[in-house]
Amino acid sequence: MTIALHGMGVSRGIAIGSVHIIEHDQLDIHEFSIPKESIEYEVQRFEKAVTSARQQLRAILNHIPETTNADIAAFIDTHLLMLEDTSLTHEPTRLIRELACNAEWALKLQRDVLVSVFDEMDDAYLRTRKDDVDYVVNRIQRILLNQTPLRHEVPDNRLTGYIVLANDLTPADTVLLQHNGITAFVTEYGGPTSHTAILARSLGIPAIVGLQHGLQYIHEEDLIILDGTRGVVLVDPDKQTLAHYRRLQKDEKLHYTALGKLKGKPTVTLDGIPIELQANIELPRDFETVIEVGASGVGLYRTEFLFMNRDTPPDEEEHYQTYTKVIEILHGLPLTIRTLDLGADKQVDGGRQAGPVGSNPALGLRAVRLCLKEPSLFRPQLRAIIRASVLGPVRLLIPMLSNTHELSQVLQIIAEIKSELDAQNIPYDHRLPVGAMIEVPAAAVCADVFAHYLDFLSLGTNDLIQYTMAIDRVNDEVSYLYDPLHPAVLRLIHITLQAGEKANIPVAVCGEMAGETQYTRLLLGLGLREFSVHPAALLEVKQIINNSELAPLKRLAQMALNARNGIEVAEIMAAVNK
Ligand code: PEP
Ligand code: MG
Repeated sequence: MTIALHGMGVSRGIAIGSVHIIEHDQLDIHEFSIPKESIEYEVQRFEKAVTSARQQLRAILNHIPETTNADIAAFIDTHLLMLEDTSLTHEPTRLIRELACNAEWALKLQRDVLVSVFDEMDDAYLRTRKDDVDYVVNRIQRILLNQTPLRHEVPDNRLTGYIVLANDLTPADTVLLQHNGITAFVTEYGGPTSHTAILARSLGIPAIVGLQHGLQYIHEEDLIILDGTRGVVLVDPDKQTLAHYRRLQKDEKLHYTALGKLKGKPTVTLDGIPIELQANIELPRDFETVIEVGASGVGLYRTEFLFMNRDTPPDEEEHYQTYTKVIEILHGLPLTIRTLDLGADKQVDGGRQAGPVGSNPALGLRAVRLCLKEPSLFRPQLRAIIRASVLGPVRLLIPMLSNTHELSQVLQIIAEIKSELDAQNIPYDHRLPVGAMIEVPAAAVCADVFAHYLDFLSLGTNDLIQYTMAIDRVNDEVSYLYDPLHPAVLRLIHITLQAGEKANIPVAVCGEMAGETQYTRLLLGLGLREFSVHPAALLEVKQIINNSELAPLKRLAQMALNARNGIEVAEIMAAVNK
């Protein structure tokens, strides 16, 4: 009998295949006393295990094709770096000698110390680091215990075509699984904005998270259908269902081939209104895809990656060289460089002194707040962006502004840097456009005031929704409240668009909402004329825009602004997307 289980679809697409279950069972570690004369042997046993763990990770790294997203290698690099860290590699040897105990026990004690430090912190990013510690420690423990690595942890083509089911997966697991050819995955835990979910989307693997009791109903080698778009898993499907989903799979392929034909075509509504369709970028290698999908520019270049996985922040020259390369690749397409947005769920390393983490990091010292507090992070980046502006059409974007005092401070620093450059005879574009992310409700309500001082605005709906709904965007327990269609959110978007229109400056949406096709028409109806989306979503958004007529959408968007409950919103959205 076919059974259907429901979770959250976090990466779309249909996969049909047999199941491989990954269970991260707790390793059974016991304490033993080691006789004095064997202590050095025990220390060596530990050191050898660390060396083997390094070799295993390097082997995995070497098997990753060059074309794979750089994030993937970065995860494994992080684990390799941890294996160089003395707190993980030297401290256990000290414990073996001091307590005369076995290597496994010493490593467990040290793991508990490291994890308890992370446990005391509220920061979501640091919690991710805790998982990394466990990942590396478990790898060493399995070597010490002479256990074979889990099947997906070594290059293994027997997993090709499988759909993986696990209670949870780390981003590192996801990377290894994709590398081993799995077609999709489903987990019992996790939220739509977890690292793992984001990775699945960027790797293009259909995925579902939060499939509760999956392990109770699904067994090794069961045949399942995973529908990542709808968040449904069908276990043991009958012939008819299988045939239906195989057809859907084929249709999907045809759909993507058809989308390819839109490359190079203009983005324009049925009533002839041209729409700007740009791309969001994180890593320099993603810039190639901007060209591939025919984006009209980069509406959001998140520069956080420049600060990650390193001990010191990049200096002005490194920033400048990076932007220079990117401008070359873009060949005259506009590039919107967002200044550093660290803090909250994003990395806090990159040379920044890790200060105390507040109990609400999303409401704490992040983005422009952090930059204004630490000019040594901010100034070199601003100088580099301003210098690079002479090389191509660059725009400078400031994240997370809450009031105009912050804006004046930023504009003051920009003015000072320009005077310095003038004094040094260094060229730059004197009309370099400066814009702000509107992602704090206070800034959206006062968008007209911000618009007065700026050349463009960009709505960061990911944060705008988080702050409007008072929910942490990485907390899956409240993710049901993350509602882009809440009239409060729509009204803030509308207020911002109107402010831009009045001030005659462009307003874009660069949050995830801009790339989710169910919202494309509503955003058009609200007055949006500039979208910046994940490159993978660009052609689908273009297809919707090119098949939309603005006049009826304006009327429906007005109704959505005044909807009183979810049922009314659903009815309006059905008409919008008809
Ligand atoms: C946003 O908040 O919508 C946004 C685009 O910025 P980020 O996701 O990087 O916070
Ligand atoms: Mg944001």
